[in-house]
Amino acid sequence: MGLVVQKYGGSSVADAEGIKRVAKRIVEAKKNGHQVVAVVSAMGDTTDELIDLAEQVSPIPAGRELDMLLTAGERISMALLAMAIKNLGHSAQSFTGSQAGVITDSVHNKARIIDVTPGRIRDSLNEGNIAIVAGFQGVSQDTKDITTLGRGGSDTTAVALAAALDAEVCEIYTDVDGVFTADPRVVKKARKIDWISSEDMLELAASGSKVLLHRCVEYARRYNIPIHVRSSFSGLRGTWVSNEKPEGDAQVEHAIISGVAHDVSEAKVTVVGVPDKPGEAAAIFRTISDAEINIDMIVQNVSAAATGLTDISFTLPKTEGRKAIDALEKSKAGIGFESLRYDDQIGKISLVGAGMKTNPGVTADFFTALSDAGVNIELISTSEIRISVVTRADDVNEAVRAVHTAFGLDSDSDEAVVYGGTGR
Ligand code: ADP
Ligand code: ASP
Ligand code: MG
Repeated sequence: MGLVVQKYGGSSVADAEGIKRVAKRIVEAKKNGHQVVAVVSAMGDTTDELIDLAEQVSPIPAGRELDMLLTAGERISMALLAMAIKNLGHSAQSFTGSQAGVITDSVHNKARIIDVTPGRIRDSLNEGNIAIVAGFQGVSQDTKDITTLGRGGSDTTAVALAAALDAEVCEIYTDVDGVFTADPRVVKKARKIDWISSEDMLELAASGSKVLLHRCVEYARRYNIPIHVRSSFSGLRGTWVSNEKPEGDAQVEHAIISGVAHDVSEAKVTVVGVPDKPGEAAAIFRTISDAEINIDMIVQNVSAAATGLTDISFTLPKTEGRKAIDALEKSKAGIGFESLRYDDQIGKISLVGAGMKTNPGVTADFFTALSDAGVNIELISTSEIRISVVTRADDVNEAVRAVHTAFGLDSDSDEAVVYGGTGR
């Protein structure tokens, strides 16, 4: 029996009862002969509550201090979980990200892991302990300050530790029974997927299916770590995510369309009246990248013949909206645009599946489903295995359901179960 890394999300450890339930589950794995490392998130919506609190004292909290504050959430749950395990008669030790050897760059609030040196975790396991690790956090190699990995980052902690410790599997425990063909909170008839390729999962995650963070899937793909996404509330088999289809597993099939993802966490910035000449887009996006903001979709309109001016729109996380507007305003004279527009009432719907490459009708069917549902499309972007559109935020849920039905993804068995969480 090898080593397993298990990750428990905030909804699985939302209260004392949840922590005791998770403790039992971890002890079960240990009793089955595994060495167990459990990565844990902050309880319930603690991270959101801490962010709200920070914003009450400062509208744009300093990155370093925000990281200090947020990492406290995971410290609470790791210590409580270790206590609960000891109460069951087993030995456990908790570790912060820094103690566990999660080394990152120094970009606060969205640091990237650059190395994992889990010496203390190995020692603790070899002494017979269960090791509990605070997710979502690390320590900067340069500044030695505490960093966080971005929202949902405990998934990445788990996979990174699984890779560094050469684990058999990384189990991600959450509040639904696995990865579904759409968010079960929006589509009651969503179907559980038994196996999904890393490639398709990466696109779903990047398109907003927050059941797994895309950086975690990226990491797992690079180090070839199989992920098993499952519920901490049921004993059911969940969804396996891996590079190759598991051999001889009768339950898995390679679907043409893997699923529909949606995302209402983005906003749209339109730069109005940009001179249509070389170098303008470069100047705009240099300004944005110098502010360390990641953007998603971009569209440039055809310029009006009379004025020679065009508009450029792009989408970005709402949380970066203010920073982007400030940065562009500061460079306005240099870039030479007329004005800026900001719209945070948008949503994105994406259809994902490797089968798209070889099925030319998919795009047309997608747009037909949206038009039948009366949904207006504002932006479009595609990759080889994904089509995404931006619509009004109010239309998103209806659009997801319409597309899900149109592609025959609706399940004809029981409704998908959501065991906990607030969906925040
Ligand atoms: P955790 O607290 O365990 O990290 P998250 O809230 O981050 O949980 O992720 C689980 C949630 O992801 C589910 O409750 C569900 O609402 C949402 N979700 C979005 N898309 C999907 C999908 N395709 N399959 C399963 N869950 C999804
Ligand atoms: N607690 C952090 C968050 O809410 C990290 C995580 O849950 O993965 O984003
Ligand atoms: Mg999560």
